[in-house]
Amino acid sequence: MLNVVLFGPPGAGKGTQAVNLIEKYKLVHLSTGDILRGELAAKSPLGLEAKKFMDKGELVPDEVVIGMIEGKIDQQAGAKGFIFDGFPRTKAQAGALDKMLSKKNTAISIMVALEVEKQELVNRLMGRGKVSGRADDQDINVIENRIAVYNRETAPVIDYYSAQGKFKPVNGMGTIDEIFGRLCGEIDKV
Ligand code: ADP
Repeated sequence: MLNVVLFGPPGAGKGTQAVNLIEKYKLVHLSTGDILRGELAAKSPLGLEAKKFMDKGELVPDEVVIGMIEGKIDQQAGAKGFIFDGFPRTKAQAGALDKMLSKKNTAISIMVALEVEKQELVNRLMGRGKVSGRADDQDINVIENRIAVYNRETAPVIDYYSAQGKFKPVNGMGTIDEIFGRLCGEIDKV
């Protein structure tokens, strides 16, 4: 299997690139943000609980997200591989993911991490907020908090994969096609 962690701060372009990557490598896309927004739209108990955190730009508790992703992996028995987008976001999530995958006799192949300057992240998120209707993209304080939470809780996940020799930084500035080319360059080396 080819299992890719697509990593980067909020607004780095993970969702955009994931769409092209799943097409090229025939992978299943698992975006925790998308799954949580789906739960919210369905007004499920999980979605309503998650909303409290998402609206503030805080992380949804690990046990909620871990249980959710495990269920999704189990539903995809025949998959050639996965793109994890927005997950893992903490070291605890990364450890749980390794355990889930090893139960299925597989593992993370690579972590590609998009690197984007902070001002560009803010610009992209505010721009997206105008069209997406996402509440967490429309408030500068929430955006600033998401970036702070990323730096504090999520960036350490880099060390986790670095220790396994799987961390590959990728320049996330430029056109969508240029960035896609860089990501594929790293993934093709696996
Ligand atoms: P972005 O990467 O642009 O911030 P996402 O759609 O990935 O957007 O996530 C939106 C929100 O969903 C996050 O701010 C957080 O509240 C929640 N969320 C998504 N993935 C996770 C995760 N793995 N762990 C905890 N919370 C998460």
